[in-house]
Amino acid sequence: MILEEERQAVVNACQEMQRKGLVVGTAGNVSVRVGDKVAISPSAVEYEDLTAGMVGVHDLDGKVIDAQLKPSSELPLHLAVYHSTDAGGITHNHAPASTAMGLVCETIPFSHYYSAMFGGPIRVSPYADFGTDQLAHNVAAALQGRSGALMSNHGAITIGPTLDKALSLLPYLEYICEVQLRAMSTGHSVKVLTDDQIAFQVEAIKGYKPSKA
Ligand SMILES: [Zn+2]
Repeated sequence: MILEEERQAVVNACQEMQRKGLVVGTAGNVSVRVGDKVAISPSAVEYEDLTAGMVGVHDLDGKVIDAQLKPSSELPLHLAVYHSTDAGGITHNHAPASTAMGLVCETIPFSHYYSAMFGGPIRVSPYADFGTDQLAHNVAAALQGRSGALMSNHGAITIGPTLDKALSLLPYLEYICEVQLRAMSTGHSVKVLTDDQIAFQVEAIKGYKPSKA
């Protein structure tokens, strides 16, 4: 089986998202790129039932190379991100705080220095229907210069040079959103870092590696 190791890594990442409580049911999807091939989780398979053989392999135009099942409906999103970034792995979920945060802002306020892990203030891509080219376009734009973004009225996405790296960022994104929402819910104004503090943190964190998810 081609890309067996990478397909198994997709299975492991899906199950890890589920273990961490970052997905409900079959929501979310995961992919890995190797050269011009993309291994992506299938549509509508329970994560506990997922096996490497169910993870399909497509080319960067979405053509099937080796797939038994229908790919995730967000295949166009994954392909658009691979076309516009040098990402090697992508994770997408509908975690509650990330999804809620995408309902109330255009950019996550830079209130915690963890935001620097994502390359700067984390954008919320404008709403588009799931599975559409418009959504793919909007999210790819929101990810420019960033390793994560929120998707308005939908969820969150992280990317990395490897799938492990992308996966390791997801809980941090959810944490940032959870903390911001709790702070906002007090009704007090939320303190944010200054532009200088943000620039310092973005530089400082480049040498910092978050623990493996
Ligand atoms: Zn989704």
